[in-house]
Formats: sequence, structure tokens, C-alpha cells
Amino acid sequence: MPSDATTPDLLSLFPEELEAILQKAGEPKYRAGQIFPQLHRGLSPEEMTNIGKATRNVLAAAAPYHPLSVIRKLVSALDGTVKYLFALYDGECVESVVMRYEHGLTICISSQVGCRMGCRFCASTLGGKVRDLSAGELLGQVVTAQRDLGERISNIVLMGIGEPLDNYDQVVRFIRLVSHPDGLNIGCRHISLSTCGLADRIDRLAKEGLPITLSISLHAPDDTIRDSLMPVNRRFPIHTLLESCNRYFHETGRRISFEYTLIAGQNDTEEVALKLADVLNRHLRSETETMPIHVNLIPVNTVKESGFARSGNAEIQRFARTLEAHGIRATVRRTLGADINASCGQLRRAHLSQEDPST
Ligand code: SAH
Repeated sequence: MPSDATTPDLLSLFPEELEAILQKAGEPKYRAGQIFPQLHRGLSPEEMTNIGKATRNVLAAAAPYHPLSVIRKLVSALDGTVKYLFALYDGECVESVVMRYEHGLTICISSQVGCRMGCRFCASTLGGKVRDLSAGELLGQVVTAQRDLGERISNIVLMGIGEPLDNYDQVVRFIRLVSHPDGLNIGCRHISLSTCGLADRIDRLAKEGLPITLSISLHAPDDTIRDSLMPVNRRFPIHTLLESCNRYFHETGRRISFEYTLIAGQNDTEEVALKLADVLNRHLRSETETMPIHVNLIPVNTVKESGFARSGNAEIQRFARTLEAHGIRATVRRTLGADINASCGQLRRAHLSQEDPST
């Protein structure tokens, strides 16, 4: 067997790469066209009835098959949100959440095992980053959930555990795989990527020709507040980040949305809302062009270790009204799956602490 750390897993491969593997072993390359769609429907090579043992052996020798398995599945009695804890081939685990909207099912997937960004309000980063996910493991979350639910997933948000742009190559490969017409064919316009603000990678992403929606986790209007909440801001301060956002918009024509977690007493006053409106308008609107600006307000989910509390409803509404009054669309994120603790990072942490009381 090849070494797992260096050999891409089967679900990470493009049809051309499968073709090359098959051809090298003397197998007809059209088999790639049979294998790729079945892998993306969640079938293992063993389950594929139209390929023989010889082909299976060729695949097994070239690329390990690493299906995800469901460790836990929680279904919300309130709104049908489904939360999965998936085991990876090496015993690590990640979470995904499937949400039901009028326009279909949206899955929120993880991009890394843990996270090294250190945002102070976030549960996913508490134990640091363990490892990156492969493109196949990113895809595996969509494939496994879809097969388990027996319903088509139509939208993807990269907003679970991890920082997607800190796992850049695998994430870009995943987006190309999941939008492939012979696979799940989920178009880039149905994919959103949320980032804490790695500005250099945003510039790179702008040139990939992938019309996905970018979401920026901003959470603060100035560097003093943002430095105190998000260590990444010391590397890429707000000005640098918003300039990258501007370039992304001009390069791709895709609107960018902003996530803003409201934390009582930290970033939720009217003065802060005014500052936020000002900084966004100043950086992202010029006289000749208007980039539509949308801020998603998210009442912070209390994470025991952070000590942060959510803002009151009056503060949340006031914050939204102030932004709107200054030309910025603001919506308060609806809470889904409240009864199953659906926000990211928390199920994995609970699972780890059961296994090892020292964590
Ligand atoms: N690393 C990426 C994606 C994962 S986090 C990013 O930073 O965007 C997904 C979103 O949840 C981010 O906007 C993040 O800031 C937010 N988030 C993290 N912990 C939260 C909490 N306790 N309450 C509310 N939102 C939180």
C-alpha cells in the first residue's frame, strides 16, 4: 500500500488523474468516466458493479480509498437541521451541518481538523490545528451526508471547523471537484467560502476563475478591537484586508458578504456600528461604482472558555438599524439547530473531551 500522507486519496482525484492511473496499468481509460461519478455518489470501488477486480486492484495500489464514517448524527426537532460528526481514516474527526432552506439543502463543511487562527470567541481553535483535510475529505463530507440523507444537497458553505484559505490548495481542488459536471455538479455560485481574512490568499483566489461567494469574518471596525478578538489581524490589518476584498470584487464581479459576531460589551455599541458603516463605505464604494455590501450579524454563541456573552436583542436590532441607515444591508442570522448545539467546533470538542478527560 502507498503511504497515506503523500499519496492523494481516491476521492481527491480529477477524472484525468484517474485516467492516467488506469492507462498506466493497461486498463482502458474510459473506466475513469464510470468510476468518478460513482465515487461522488458515495459508492466505494467494492460497490461499483461495472468494474472488475483487476480495476479495483489498480485503484487500490494507486490511491487509498478513505470514506468518512458517521460517529454521531443529531437531528433538530425544531427545524430539521442535521449535524454530523464524521470520523476520518486516521481516527481524527470533523463536523458538518446540513440546514434546510426553502431553496434546498445547504451543507456547512469543515476544512481542517482544528484551526490555528486563534479567534478568541471560537470553539474550533481551542486545541489548535491537528491537520489539513484533503480535497477528498472535504468532498467526502458532502458525499456522505447526501448519501445518508437520500436528498440532493444544492449549496455548500465552507464555514465549519478550520480556516479554508489556510488549506488553500486542497480547498481549491475541492471546489473544482464538487462543481465538476460529471460529479455532484454543484456550481460555484452555490458555494460560499468564509475566511478570517488571509488577504494574500484572497488575492490569489481572485485569479482562480472560480465565481464563488466570499464571506469575510470581520467582527470589528478597527484594528484595536479586531486585534483583541482575532490574532490574524496583526498580519493583515483591516485596511489590507478590505483592499484585497476590493480587488476580489473587481476581478470576479462577485459580491462579498461580511460576518459580524456580536459580543456583549466588545463590539456591539452604536458608536462601533457607525465606525463599521464608515470603514466599509470608505473602502468598498467609489464614486463610480457601488459594491453591494451585506453584513450578517451573528449573536455570539457562548463558548465556555471564551467568557464572551451574546449581545441583547435591543443592541442587536440597534446595530442592524444603524448599518441600514448608512446604506449597508444588515440581516440578523437566524439560529438553526439550537437544540442540537449546531454551531461548529462544539460537537468535536465534546467528543474529544469524553475520550480524554485531560483535554
Ligand atoms: N475560519 C473561517 C470559517 C470558519 S468560522 C472564518 O473565520 O470565517 C465560521 C464563522 O463562525 C466565522 O464567521 C466565525 O468568526 C464565526 N464564529 C466562530 N465562533 C463563533 C461563536 N462562538 N459565535 C458566533 N460565531 C462564531
